[in-house]
Amino acid sequence: MHYLDHNATSALRPEAREAMLRAMDLGGNPSSIHASGRKARMLIEEARTDVARFTHADPQNIIFTSGGTESNALALWGAVQGAYEADARITRLFISAIEHDSIRANAAAMAERFAGLRLETFPVTKDGVIDLAALRQTMMEGKGRALIAVMAANNETGIIQPLDEIATIARAYDARLLVDAVQAAGKIPLSLDADYLTLSAHKLGGPQGVGALVLKAGAAFAPFTLGGGQERSLRAGTENVSGITGFAAAIRAASDLRSLQNLRDQFEAELNRIAPDTIFFGMQSPRLPNTSNFALPGINAETAIMALDLDGVMISSGAACSSGKVRSSHVLAAMGVSEDIARCALRLSLGWNSTEADIHAALKSLNKLHARHSRVAA
Ligand code: PLP
Repeated sequence: MHYLDHNATSALRPEAREAMLRAMDLGGNPSSIHASGRKARMLIEEARTDVARFTHADPQNIIFTSGGTESNALALWGAVQGAYEADARITRLFISAIEHDSIRANAAAMAERFAGLRLETFPVTKDGVIDLAALRQTMMEGKGRALIAVMAANNETGIIQPLDEIATIARAYDARLLVDAVQAAGKIPLSLDADYLTLSAHKLGGPQGVGALVLKAGAAFAPFTLGGGQERSLRAGTENVSGITGFAAAIRAASDLRSLQNLRDQFEAELNRIAPDTIFFGMQSPRLPNTSNFALPGINAETAIMALDLDGVMISSGAACSSGKVRSSHVLAAMGVSEDIARCALRLSLGWNSTEADIHAALKSLNKLHARHSRVAA
């Protein structure tokens, strides 16, 4: 089997698995004051220190969550409600056109829920990079404090966003900045000048269903889940001890994935040779070293995914979708890619355990598919 879908979920690192098994065997509720509880608490606090070190944050500003989606939702709702309670109301919410659904859907819901909160979406260039001039212009027009939500790197194209410039714009207009670092973390070194930063364990070799929201010291925040006072009352609920422990172990084991770039580039060069009509997305922009997003014109993504799957090669279309159905990508649409081409978009994403054999298997299968399609089309 050749698993090449690490942007959907990366392979679990053995270090994470071992740490989780140890934590599960330990048992105990971290809120209990007996020995088992204290041990579980210790594991969580050690993990908090690891996540804090990784994000250059203060451990007390790490909130463990159930993953990237919850972290993004919590950051958005918590920031806007927190600012309101601190008498520093946010009236403008800016997101880019290529954000993950967890940002898009929550931002849209908030614009409906909070009277006086306006949602604006700013564009990306045809190269998939946030249009800084458009963002500056949007910031300049209109009044009121803003929250800007952007991703550090896009999950479909792998395109890395100009976070330093965005942070400078945010500071110039006294805006708050939320960075969705779910795809970038563990793959490239991060620039972390954000008020709210979100992470997900399963994208960097940890388990699914656990992540973190990292607050900058002093960032306004109001909790969403109230109850038992866990996470300094910022996110109540008994902690996912084994998940959190596995998350931290994956972070400790993560070295950035820049070494994968050769493999990715080799794949793209060879695919271009086999199928010169391949369209590669985002090649003109800085990209995550592990991601290749491309279309074989005329070959529907669903057909291609199934054909490769039969050959034991697992890749995906750009956007993984919970229903298992492939939707056309809002990311490619925002880059001006036609619906016809977007429907053929595939994503191959490498991970810490990917090998040359995986790439060769993918190329062999794509070659077969492309040759068959060319014969039928001829
Ligand atoms: N943000 C980005 C950029 C993502 O790629 C994803 C997952 O694909 C998420 C957020 C959501 O993370 P999770 O799957 O942990 O909910």
